[in-house]
Amino acid sequence: MRPVERVLIVGGGIAGMTAATALCRAGIAAEIVERSPGWSVYGIGISIQGATLRALQAIGVLDAVVAAGYPYSRVVACDVEGRVTGTVELPPLLGPGYPECIGIMRPVLQRILQDALEAAHVPVRLGVTFRTMVQDDTGVTVDFTDGTCGRYDLVVGADGIQSQVRSLIFGADAGPEETGQRVWRAMVPRAETVTSRCMFFGPRNKAGCNPVSNDEMYIFLVESMGSGERITDADAPRMMRDLLADFGGAIAQARASITDPARIACRPISSMLLPAPWHRGRVVLIGDAVHCPTPQMASGAGMAVEDAIVLAELLRETAPVADLLDRFAVRRFDRCKGVVVASRTVSEWEKTPGLKGADPVGVLARANAALAVPI
Ligand SMILES: Cc1cc2nc3c(=O)[nH]c(=O)nc-3n(C[C@H](O)[C@H](O)[C@H](O)COP(=O)(O)OP(=O)(O)OC[C@H]3O[C@@H](n4cnc5c(N)ncnc54)[C@H](O)[C@@H]3O)c2cc1C
Repeated sequence: MRPVERVLIVGGGIAGMTAATALCRAGIAAEIVERSPGWSVYGIGISIQGATLRALQAIGVLDAVVAAGYPYSRVVACDVEGRVTGTVELPPLLGPGYPECIGIMRPVLQRILQDALEAAHVPVRLGVTFRTMVQDDTGVTVDFTDGTCGRYDLVVGADGIQSQVRSLIFGADAGPEETGQRVWRAMVPRAETVTSRCMFFGPRNKAGCNPVSNDEMYIFLVESMGSGERITDADAPRMMRDLLADFGGAIAQARASITDPARIACRPISSMLLPAPWHRGRVVLIGDAVHCPTPQMASGAGMAVEDAIVLAELLRETAPVADLLDRFAVRRFDRCKGVVVASRTVSEWEKTPGLKGADPVGVLARANAALAVPI
């Protein structure tokens, strides 16, 4: 008999939704509690790398995700004026007809993952979280904020970078560290010349464009925070346009289109990697809750999806829970560490533009080659 038949997943982000779908498809009863009262995601784009697409295949959403995204096969590095200085060819990891990578709107990806949850009949409670969690050798008893109580063979903390499950089992000190950068992103019409992700290295900051459809792309700017000027919604478009004034090429052309505060997101960035093991007894962490890279490799969501798929695969086995969870961290740790370290290295280099010996393009190429190895 399998040791895990009933699973609670705390957090309905990319990690939690993927894990619940994969578990229910494997015949393991998984349910989600999501703190937010509605499914709320930024109306901004995201890159889904080949390794992530490959992992999404396991829950049957690959074709839907590819069809809804903008396919591309390389990342182009440019100088501040938009002249090409280097290219990373992304490895093809899927069969003929599939792209190396896509850009997609987060709400579109969210809709596809929600459809997959529904198709797998995953029970979801929105606006609910845990109040207490007490475990013994045979299971975990959870009290919820909606007044109910449940008993589970395993609890999965998929509650993101500020994970309360992590605080509960590893203590409040095991948290992320802010890196001194923040990332601006704004949706704009796609410039015809932008057919793949591109990065522009400027005198103060890095910027770039990422297509998400034939019509739209997002511009990003990684700001190494000097003043850390406070941002109000009303000021955000002007502030972002000012920061982008250094840049030429496609960014200069698209800059004036940044006018709508509702289509801008700005977030400080943090980094974290918890040492293994990633569980205590019958509570385990996945996704940003346990390893949160800065966004430079565009692979955080990818690592979250892969965690979910690997965990669901292991939980099909008949072995003691402790062994399965030990094996989970063994299979995942080095791969996630590689992404966290590569991303953080580039993030640190970006704080000193023009730094001698800095090779962000080389790091990106090597990180993508490492992720090409199957999970
Ligand atoms: C600026 C930026 C750009 C990025 N770009 C990319 C990219 O292009 N490609 C890529 O692969 N990755 C990217 N990432 C990383 C990616 O967004 C994350 O790695 C990914 O969202 C992690 O998914 P997750 O499900 O682990 O966590 P989250 O997405 O944070 O989801 C956690 C969920 O748990 C819920 N929750 C929190 N606390 C509780 C609680 N106590 N109880 C119940 N529910 C709770 C939250 O409401 C949320 O829904 C980027 C990150 C940033 C900051």
